Amino acid sequence: MSSFLIKNVIIADGTGTEPFAGAVRTDSGVITDVYSEKNAYPAADKHCYTLDGRGLMLCPGFIDAHGHSDLSLHAAPDAYGKISQGITTEINGNCGLSPFPVTDANREHLEELYASYNVPLSWTSFAGYAEALSRREPAINTFSLCGHNTLRAAVCGYGKTEPDSKQLASMCDLFRNCLAEGAGGFSTGLLYIPGKFASQEELVALLGVLREFHRPYTTHLRSEGLYLIEALEEAINCSQQAKIPRLHISHLKTAGAGNWHKLEQVLAMIGKAQASGLNITADRYPYIESMTQLSVILPSPYDDLDDVSLLRRLQDDGERQKLRTALDSFAPERWSNTRLISTSLAAFRHFPGLNLQEIADRCNLAPQQVCIDLLAGDAPGTMAAFRGMSRDNLEKILRQPFICCGTDETARPQNYHIGRSHPRGFGSFPEFFRQLSPDLKPEQIIHKMTMLPATIFGLRNRGRIASGCAADLVLIDPDKFCAGASFSAPHVPAIGIHHVFVNGALSFSGGTVINRNGKVLSPAKDIF
Ligand SMILES: [Zn+2]
Repeated sequence: MSSFLIKNVIIADGTGTEPFAGAVRTDSGVITDVYSEKNAYPAADKHCYTLDGRGLMLCPGFIDAHGHSDLSLHAAPDAYGKISQGITTEINGNCGLSPFPVTDANREHLEELYASYNVPLSWTSFAGYAEALSRREPAINTFSLCGHNTLRAAVCGYGKTEPDSKQLASMCDLFRNCLAEGAGGFSTGLLYIPGKFASQEELVALLGVLREFHRPYTTHLRSEGLYLIEALEEAINCSQQAKIPRLHISHLKTAGAGNWHKLEQVLAMIGKAQASGLNITADRYPYIESMTQLSVILPSPYDDLDDVSLLRRLQDDGERQKLRTALDSFAPERWSNTRLISTSLAAFRHFPGLNLQEIADRCNLAPQQVCIDLLAGDAPGTMAAFRGMSRDNLEKILRQPFICCGTDETARPQNYHIGRSHPRGFGSFPEFFRQLSPDLKPEQIIHKMTMLPATIFGLRNRGRIASGCAADLVLIDPDKFCAGASFSAPHVPAIGIHHVFVNGALSFSGGTVINRNGKVLSPAKDIF
């Protein structure tokens, strides 16, 4: 494995302290020496490549605290959207969705959900998944959480049901097995099927298993709008009852204008829980449009159906008519606030980036009908962005000291062959940096993008430039660092990223992925 001397750089080491001029030497995937200008460094020998950083800023590789590349990395292991914005490690398995454990009870559903990636689910638990991913040699490191929705469905399926004591014990056993094999922690997605059917007792029982392994818990709250306060209360209560020391909230937000005023109360609740000893942190993407399956827009009783069941139900004319009646009661602005991001349907292939009202106008249809056509054709694969977040609240949230950056996206190639992404898939880290720049120093922002998430997820030898740490490094021009991606052209790389090293290999340079050297990280093996 190669050795590098990266010289003539300004080092922002991830701790948030003042950057200094110096050089960094790596060998066999690890940072061996960090030199400040004051202490001269030895000349590179013939086994060591020298890279002149020309006065640019050398940072630890960025850590995406919230990703969803579990399967996209198998289909597109270059992880172009991620590495081109400086990300070297992604935490995935978020929002309750992981591609393990797989049983007969959830296999068909997962296969349909992940159909666009065309990756056979050849594993059952974490170890098999990790091995299959390693074989694909992804460009970035990954750290995978076990998702509660997948776990629950592995035992109880996707229906509205309460597990009996035997089923709950099976869930705990499957979960314990994934953690013992090296899964990084636990995520819930209580807005989604079937996690939304889970009681607090069920969550506390599973968090009890997590406690045995001292690993992180992340949650996509049961509500991020109307019942945000109650949902946060539930997350704090469950964590306290299970006596786990830390709680991480995914993409902290106040969704819907009627809920924007709740932010102060949310921050006060977090402060109070922190004072009582529960270490609460959160991540956020720096955009005010969220993105998820279009089907989340549906009212009762459709909101209790998983996407595969919904798709089946909408093959019936009468059912589509019933849904149309339900959608007719929506306020018209719902459609102009809902933007199509991605779908496999040929009839709508030309419209991603437009809102449903605009698509309806072009197709000479009602927007309700566009929605029904999309769901009846591709409920699992149709993704939409939803406007409804406050710019002021976003600014306030990003500035909280416990907030790190998460893209909430899957790794995508530059083309659209596995679907289009929200611009956050290519632009979150530069946008995060730019939005915080007026108030924070570059090194303070870099800390929120590196050492802070490394600490939250227990990645002890990453997120810092120090001897002995993994040689995950990114060379940026802080004056030029900005996003190129937009909703109309989402797969555009960031500006200002010069070189990215992953585990000591020069992996991204000159706008191209040149090496794939990522690892599947596992606390059971190489972290704790
Ligand atoms: Zn989520």
